Amino acid sequence: MEQELPFLVVSDANGNVFELPPYRMTGMSMNTLVLPPPSSLIELPYGSNIFMLPLRHAIGYDPRTGQYKEITEYKGNPVFGASAFMAPAYMQLLRSAYTSCRDVSPLPLYSYTALGWLNGKFYVCGIRIDDDRRQDLENFDLDHIGEQAQDMKQRFKGNRLAAHLVDHCVCRYGCPAARNFVLERWECPLPTSPACNAACIGCISKQPVSSSIKASQDRILFIPEVDEIAEIAIFHLENAPGPVVSFGQGCEGEPLLAGDTIELAIRKIREHTSRGIINLNTNGSKPDVVRRLCKAGLDSIRVSLNSAQVDFYHRYYRPRDYSFKEIIKTLHIIREYGKWSSINYFIFPGFTDSEGEMDALFSLIKDTRINMIQTRNLNIDPAWYIEKMEFKIPQEKSIGLINWLLWVKKEFPWIKTGYFNPSKQGMKKEHFPV
Ligand code: SF4
Repeated sequence: MEQELPFLVVSDANGNVFELPPYRMTGMSMNTLVLPPPSSLIELPYGSNIFMLPLRHAIGYDPRTGQYKEITEYKGNPVFGASAFMAPAYMQLLRSAYTSCRDVSPLPLYSYTALGWLNGKFYVCGIRIDDDRRQDLENFDLDHIGEQAQDMKQRFKGNRLAAHLVDHCVCRYGCPAARNFVLERWECPLPTSPACNAACIGCISKQPVSSSIKASQDRILFIPEVDEIAEIAIFHLENAPGPVVSFGQGCEGEPLLAGDTIELAIRKIREHTSRGIINLNTNGSKPDVVRRLCKAGLDSIRVSLNSAQVDFYHRYYRPRDYSFKEIIKTLHIIREYGKWSSINYFIFPGFTDSEGEMDALFSLIKDTRINMIQTRNLNIDPAWYIEKMEFKIPQEKSIGLINWLLWVKKEFPWIKTGYFNPSKQGMKKEHFPV
């Protein structure tokens, strides 16, 4: 088995990565070292990033001794860990194995997947979880996007939301969803809310000043007008292939706090077109608002969750004016209206596939009968997350994420697993629980 394992990849102090034979790549599940099973290895997906892990030392497997070894230097020079941040549509199976030097600051808000090198290629411990190619980098011609973006801004002259999507999302952050908006295809983002009623530890749009980690993007600073939202949404739903418009983006707070505006916008959109899907990505905190949006014409919802266990949920989301039970109520309301419901489920190897978490997820799905699990690699420093969640170490028994996917399929045969909000074509009958 060791033979097939790719070599360990490390980084020098300048971020140059290289393989280090004879050591083989190693993964981590919570804090347990794991030799990646060959079935868990894929070539590094195009569009992924490779990161050096500063002040962290890689752990490799030495086939000569059958032991794991912490690697601190190579030919007298210090070396550090390296990991992959996989492209959209891929699910992490094992995270990078490394030790941290004392009192290090948390790593930035990315996921850190186990990385190796073999026969001239990088390999990662991951799996493609969604065949939809809407965010595959090879589908983005950056020059064409630049021109299209300015044309779109011209087309929606005076529309502040269009200007935000072009100047902020496309030009500043390269957001794949906003790129698809200017390319008039698939899913279009509709950020609306500057505020949020939660304070997630790993919030990518707002971090407390005192926090040692930086938010990956700034939040929208205004609530767009109903007409600004409707103008963009109607155009996109009418013209795009497989059209979806989605409230609730990484560059905003919680859209349900802008529920009045969104309700009027959905009504206006549906007065003009019945085409496509109107989706809401949310923390699910306001079931009454969700009911109003269902009546207005909302088609699908995606509720984000780091855990189906109340304590771990509250420890991560730090909700201000709601609790876990509001999430459940929201998913019940979506079921009541026969709409599509997904959970945006943060994947953390060793926790997601642990007995306690699986039992809780089992009850949640049995109770709320959701249609889909969208897996999201949790973008956070793993060691820092384990500390903040006060996870028991040594950890609970876990079954491995490939087995976890098989378990989901076996226990909930109707459930769709994937990464993206489905279009109308993707919401097949067989994904609705009987
Ligand atoms: S719910 Fe979303 S916007 Fe609000 S704190 Fe959490 S990640 Fe940030």
